[in-house]
Amino acid sequence: MAPVEVEMIAERQEMTAVEPVRVLVVEDEPMVREVVARYLRREGYEVRLAGDGETALAAWRDQPVDLILLDLMLPRLSGMEVCRQIRTVSDVPIIMLTARGEETDKVIGLGIGADDYVTKPFSPRELVARVQALLRRARPVSARGPNALIRSGDIEIDPRSRSVRVESRPVQLTAKEFDLLHFLASHPNHVFTRDELMNRVWDFAFAGDTGTVTVHVRRLRQKIEPDPDRPRYLKTVWGVGYKFEPAQA
Ligand code: CA
Repeated sequence: MAPVEVEMIAERQEMTAVEPVRVLVVEDEPMVREVVARYLRREGYEVRLAGDGETALAAWRDQPVDLILLDLMLPRLSGMEVCRQIRTVSDVPIIMLTARGEETDKVIGLGIGADDYVTKPFSPRELVARVQALLRRARPVSARGPNALIRSGDIEIDPRSRSVRVESRPVQLTAKEFDLLHFLASHPNHVFTRDELMNRVWDFAFAGDTGTVTVHVRRLRQKIEPDPDRPRYLKTVWGVGYKFEPAQA
């Protein structure tokens, strides 16, 4: 059950159920790409294709999809880098396609934010099953959409205008403060490590100093918490990281 205190207002466009589910398949081997596309289309998905990392990012910017199948080893821009860049702005479900061996460990170990991975060679049928399973798990998130208004207690976060109100009064946040608050509030009660927040909220080019996360959390608390020393919303989970705790009704 979703916490009732976090009120989600879905975008009108996303509430119409007739829209096909869109999947972007990023794979440089034409054979694999075509076979995967054929199986997905057979299941009723609308499939877009990209053969390299840069084309994938361009296709994503052009029209966001509901799920991405992302090959790890790609020309022009690696799957890992594509994943990181998309994760700075979106929670779209991503399944990495990896070769057997070390690559898989890399995907899991680096915490780049992929939701699942499939090791080659895979059966297209199994891949389709993974796609369906991930879409089922991700539905609450995609149904409310990245632009949904989030309300919790006295805090209102509006991604469309990138504005935040506390007790109905506008609060001035920097771009990264907003991104961090929005990201945490979009995943209520989910604990993120500083490394994860660095990867998910900051451009990976700035990654490295997780002290940045600590500083931003402190500033955010001063701006949104009734008592910054005893945070109600932005909680520290000692030894792990931070989470957004929705207000109790
Ligand atoms: Ca490849």
